[in-house]
Amino acid sequence: MKIILLGPPGAGKGTQAAGIVEKYNIPHISTGDIFRKNIKEGTELGKKAKEYMDKGLLVPDELTVGLVTDRISQDDCKNGFMLDGFPRNVSQAKYLDSFLQKTNIALDKVVNIEVDKSILVERAVGRRICKSCGATFHIEFNPPKENGVCDVCSGELYQRADDTEETVSKRIQVYLDETKPLVNYYTSQGIIANINGQQSIEKVFEDIVDALGSEK
Ligand code: ADP
Ligand code: ADP
Ligand code: ZN
Repeated sequence: MKIILLGPPGAGKGTQAAGIVEKYNIPHISTGDIFRKNIKEGTELGKKAKEYMDKGLLVPDELTVGLVTDRISQDDCKNGFMLDGFPRNVSQAKYLDSFLQKTNIALDKVVNIEVDKSILVERAVGRRICKSCGATFHIEFNPPKENGVCDVCSGELYQRADDTEETVSKRIQVYLDETKPLVNYYTSQGIIANINGQQSIEKVFEDIVDALGSEK
């Protein structure tokens, strides 16, 4: 199964990604996670990416596209993969398409999680993430059993530096201007599945599995 997860910041991509990669047994490729790892490790890429991420802007394509195609070229992606947060604009999508064509890979589906702008800020600002395993919680909508502690691994929960009201609002605007055009782009390729993201986490997952089918 070769999938792209599309949707505005706070739509629930990361949350659903965990269940999808487990069910279909495919690697989860999140450009946001790759950048955050580089920031944590203090690499050159991390330093450059941080300047843009802190402002809620997209990291330039030249720092982004090669990362993804290198990752897709690895052995564990032969039978499938899930891209989360990539592509983020039409030029990234075109770059990806030409890479996939050259390497004879076909995407199965683009899962587009739809959520109203009005509830995205609340979702992103209340988001908490586990430092150790990356599991995602929400202080109100999906709280951990114990405050500040991960249910999965007992790791410490933290709030992302860019999950402030101001930066989230900027990221939503960037989504509307640069990323949303991809919905038409993939609709015209006939591979989009639009999912109502304003339902319980469990129901959203059910709808995604219905759209993808149970075949691996
Ligand atoms: P994205 O990766 O698209 O930015 P996340 O998966 O990190 O989004 O979810 C954003 C926040 O919203 C998290 O705190 C998460 O726990 C919460 N969330 C995810 N799905 C739902 C849902 N269906 N209903 C309510 N809150 C949700
Ligand atoms: P969210 O899940 O809330 O949408 P991500 O973790 O996907 O956030 O992305 C966080 C930030 O990382 C983005 O605001 C952007 O600065 C950068 N980023 C992630 N993916 C890309 C990409 N494909 N192109 C450019 N910048 C990206
Ligand atoms: Zn954890």
